[in-house]
Amino acid sequence: MAHFFKDNEDLRFYLERGIDWAPLIEELENGFQSKEVFKSVEEVVEFYRDILENVGEFAANEVAPYAAEMDRLGLEMLDGDVVLNAPFEKIFKKIKRLDLHGMCMPRELGGMNCPALMYFLVSELFARADVSVTTHLGFHGGIAVTLLQTSMSEGTTEFDPKTRALLKTRFADEIKELISGKAWGAMDLTEPNAGSDLAALRTKGEQDEAGNWFLTGQKIFLTSGSGKHHIVIARTEPNEGKTAGLAGLSLFHAPIYTEKRKKKEWLATIDRLEEKIGHHTSPTVSVTFERTPAQLIGQRGEGFRLMLLLMNHARMGVTFEGLGVCEAALRLSKEYAAERPSMGKTIDRHEMIAAYLDQMENEIIGLRAIGVTATWAEDMALAYKRACDFFTDKGSDEHKRYKRGYKKYKALARRLTPLCKYYGSERAVAHSRLAIQILGGVGYTREYGAEKLLRDALVLPIYEGTSQIQALMAMKDTLGAITKNPQAFIKRIAQARWTSLSARDPLERRVAKLQSLSLSAQQHLMQKTVASKFKSVGEKPIADWPKALKQNWDPKRDFSYAMLHAEHLIQLLINEAIAEILLDQALKHEDRREHLEVWLDRVEPECRYLLDKMHGGERILARLEAQAEQVEG
Ligand SMILES: Cc1cc2nc3c(=O)[nH]c(=O)nc-3n(C[C@H](O)[C@H](O)[C@H](O)COP(=O)(O)OP(=O)(O)OC[C@H]3O[C@@H](n4cnc5c(N)ncnc54)[C@H](O)[C@@H]3O)c2cc1C
Repeated sequence: MAHFFKDNEDLRFYLERGIDWAPLIEELENGFQSKEVFKSVEEVVEFYRDILENVGEFAANEVAPYAAEMDRLGLEMLDGDVVLNAPFEKIFKKIKRLDLHGMCMPRELGGMNCPALMYFLVSELFARADVSVTTHLGFHGGIAVTLLQTSMSEGTTEFDPKTRALLKTRFADEIKELISGKAWGAMDLTEPNAGSDLAALRTKGEQDEAGNWFLTGQKIFLTSGSGKHHIVIARTEPNEGKTAGLAGLSLFHAPIYTEKRKKKEWLATIDRLEEKIGHHTSPTVSVTFERTPAQLIGQRGEGFRLMLLLMNHARMGVTFEGLGVCEAALRLSKEYAAERPSMGKTIDRHEMIAAYLDQMENEIIGLRAIGVTATWAEDMALAYKRACDFFTDKGSDEHKRYKRGYKKYKALARRLTPLCKYYGSERAVAHSRLAIQILGGVGYTREYGAEKLLRDALVLPIYEGTSQIQALMAMKDTLGAITKNPQAFIKRIAQARWTSLSARDPLERRVAKLQSLSLSAQQHLMQKTVASKFKSVGEKPIADWPKALKQNWDPKRDFSYAMLHAEHLIQLLINEAIAEILLDQALKHEDRREHLEVWLDRVEPECRYLLDKMHGGERILARLEAQAEQVEG
């Protein structure tokens, strides 16, 4: 019987050895104070194994066999609502029975109290079977998580400080509805004139004299947008002065229907179901709000900050969707290549095809490594934040320890999240494209499903922040850190050089060389950025930059050289980050050394090429400058 967990050695490595479960589980289980459900970390990990084994079997045997049929059937609009197809409905009925929607919710709310990491490992298993199923799944549990986290952030959730049990939370009823599978939700950012540029949002949030909030405007491209519980970002403050752009946005919870005797009464209108290249069973709709009643979440003007809580979660979700697609593309390619004869041998024994398969295998190892590490760090950060905010006294040593931990893990998660989203989605496209090539003519037909993988994968670099936006975020964070603390940057350069010469382990030396190369690239971008703004400062030592950078600085314009090369930089940062994570694994587990060796063999020449590419592009910048002058003049 097919099994997507048992047949995946790398995934099993993480459950059994690769994840530092103890500190995370200790926090989630509140130090096993109650012992009612679990008594030890080992027991909890066994429970996680049960979940992964159940889902691995379910995804392989009860989802994957229906993927082609669901893709063909698609969805339709009927009487202003979206009708899901029969196999999709059946799958979700079973998911409901398995209670998976509440995986990451506290037990007090009827959930399983798992970390987000467990949810994402499950997502990968589903995405290997059908990525639309994973996407839709995310809009049950993911929305419930958002409601709980935003409520914790605004101070409407209470815990018992002794037992750490959740006592009450603002959206308890909605959460129960979401995790029971009775309803799902959606995340409403995009508008016809505002996609990547969220500062351009026009949907309005207005308050009447009695203090009730109402939303008016149109949101488009909403995944699972026919669901009930919409989390909407809207403008509540004047788009000028201090509240211009992102600062004037607020977050709302707005149900788009109520139900009376199983009949929906609409509070907003679903005006369109998109016809897409792929993701045929994932509903993508536009919704018009016309004085739709809504509840403000948090404070006015906090919308963007709060939305980021949901978006970070969603971006990691896309990473694992990508991982599932890559895994499906690899498996399909390997099986086909092992059977298909050409010129006297099967095609997997021809050099170029063997190299493709080897590359796919190693990139999946790298992607899972960075995805798991980032999610684990985010889980640790959230657990420590909860301890800071609810369980420890300000000023106490324990509080200080949690605060330090929170900052450390949050910084790691922030650094890795755009890299994960970029790498997961871009690799999904690349691997499914390779799968079509490896299958040759039949890859281009519907027979084996390779073309469906590519059609489904193509949206991953677009939604939840495009690849270009991820590259910009990574670039701004990286260069921003250098300007804030150039001394620390210089120290990192020296440290990497020293380790690249002195480390005893040759793999450690190679990783340090890669770090050196990445730091040179960052230094080059920074120098070009500074030099283009302040011709004289560019030649000054790095330590003198902060003073100069404070003067007359326009990040939008002055970062143009770095923006041009942001995609080269993010690829370098990904190669470096994965090398660091695989080194950490290799130093603990002898059998992981080979993965790092293969990784380095592949990415070392690629990184040199990327650094080379970062020297150039002046022609495009000059053209853009001339265009800008024309517009301004
Ligand atoms: C199937 C699907 C599901 C979706 N689900 C949701 C959902 O659930 N909720 C939701 O709110 N939205 C959703 N979206 C919308 C999605 O998030 C947006 O399409 C995406 O953010 C890009 O916005 P845009 O389409 O307006 O493109 P634009 O922002 O117009 O971008 C077009 C191109 O320009 C690039 N670009 C834009 N600005 C810059 C810049 N400063 N520098 C360099 N390049 C730039 C982009 O990277 C892109 O390549 C979905 C979209 C699709 C296709």
